[in-house]
Amino acid sequence: MTLIQTVDIVDLVIDGAARPARGGARAAVLDPATGATLAEVAAAGPEDVDDAVAAARAAQPAWSRLSPRQRGQHLFAVAALVRRHADDLAHTESLDTGKPLAQARADVEVTAEYFEFYGGYADKFYGETMPLAGDSFALTFREPHGVTGHIIPWNYPLQIGCRTIVPSLMVGNACVVKPAMEAPLSITRLGLLALEAGLPPGVLNVVPGSGSLAGAHLADHPGIDHLSFTGGLETGVLVMSAAARHVRPVTLELGGKSPSLVFADADLDRATAVLTKALIQNAGQTCSAGSRIVAERSVHDELVDRLAKAFEEVTLGRGVDDPDMGPVISAAQRDRVLGYIDGALAAGCGVAAGGSAAEPAGLAGGYFVRPTLLVDVAPDMAVAQEEVFGPVLTVLRADDDESALAIANGTPFGLVASVWTSDLDRAMHLARRLEAGQVYLNSYGAAGGIGLPFGGVKKSGFGREKGVEAASEYTQTKTVVVNVG
Ligand code: NDP
Repeated sequence: MTLIQTVDIVDLVIDGAARPARGGARAAVLDPATGATLAEVAAAGPEDVDDAVAAARAAQPAWSRLSPRQRGQHLFAVAALVRRHADDLAHTESLDTGKPLAQARADVEVTAEYFEFYGGYADKFYGETMPLAGDSFALTFREPHGVTGHIIPWNYPLQIGCRTIVPSLMVGNACVVKPAMEAPLSITRLGLLALEAGLPPGVLNVVPGSGSLAGAHLADHPGIDHLSFTGGLETGVLVMSAAARHVRPVTLELGGKSPSLVFADADLDRATAVLTKALIQNAGQTCSAGSRIVAERSVHDELVDRLAKAFEEVTLGRGVDDPDMGPVISAAQRDRVLGYIDGALAAGCGVAAGGSAAEPAGLAGGYFVRPTLLVDVAPDMAVAQEEVFGPVLTVLRADDDESALAIANGTPFGLVASVWTSDLDRAMHLARRLEAGQVYLNSYGAAGGIGLPFGGVKKSGFGREKGVEAASEYTQTKTVVVNVG
């Protein structure tokens, strides 16, 4: 397997083989740091999605009849191959998404860990027995759905892909995966690596294709038994509508507007360093990005000064050169982010750092936005309510715990939150009342956090991924009652 350095042709992975789209369609994959074409990827149409679903349906019964331990061993074999190809995969992920190489390496490490975590859990995921009257009893079986569809976004193709694919495989489902066309390279490569590692043909199929064509067809496919989607709110609603037509379970992870509550008794050195990273990681294109700070009034100005200084020091560049921050994914995403900044300025916000596009030396064609710190932001402004998905941090003021909590909970989203204080009672009270799937106290993010249940409340979606909870998500419980006469 070679590094992608020049234009490469990438095929679909269906039924154990790489092949072009039936209609021959291909799409260019661009390097977001330069705008140059990195690769040409086969673009699946509905007929290719049909092939992938049929292959998965054919492969799934035998896969589910393997012992859990055998399936676990398959997952460990994939993990080993991912580790062996870690450099290639990280390089590809960095080129394709624009993220710094160090972050891409961390993503690949987490990818291997997903296969190891669920490889190890495969033979420890049990049903239950329940005593009934007399000698009678009931027992539960955790049965796979059958074929699961996975529509994944461009921000963390490997990490987000594996977060849903691996637990699904573990419990005996076969998968059809549709990566985003902006960044399909690493996950397609993973499909090939899985075959090389011995995963039976048809168990993992990867069909890059446009969302409106291949994605919509997969979401509405009668041959899919469960669908997991990570992406934007509007697309999530479409995917859920399709699932409703089929009366079929979905898992939705739709991003957030995650708040960090910073109080005057917080360790500001630590908060500044961690919250800068919570924003600039992947150029702010992270579902759990720390994109809102709610600062206690007495500490607001000092915190803004510190953050502004940290933001001005952030280095921008091509991901593979490992700067602090790379470009955003596309020209459209850059324009969307700049639109939010312009809208905020027009609404009366101030800029404490950044506020514009950037052009690092030699990268005129890239899609760069300076890390931007917006102040004098009112809680009801669009930039404080909607997911910008770029390096834009809004800072709001609060007078006390109650007003901070009201601002924090006052958006449609609820994915992640953090509280910064040296008062443990306050931290725990707020943690219990914050509307979020995960709350961090004096920290932010869990470096992959594979073992920690992850997912949102409100319009951030529903269903829990990661950890042992994900195994339940990808199974249905069957109860068998045994009447001992
Ligand atoms: P989308 O939600 O449109 O894309 C996510 C995935 O859904 C991609 O694979 C996409 O395919 C696919 N898709 C698009 N349309 C459909 C459809 N009708 N049916 C089924 N699948 C579809 O996000 P965008 O890329 O357009 O980004 C827009 C915004 O969404 C971002 O600015 C951000 O706010 C949010 N977002 C959130 C993410 C998160 O991690 N929570 C990740 C990505 C985006 P394709 O891209 O190939 O067309």
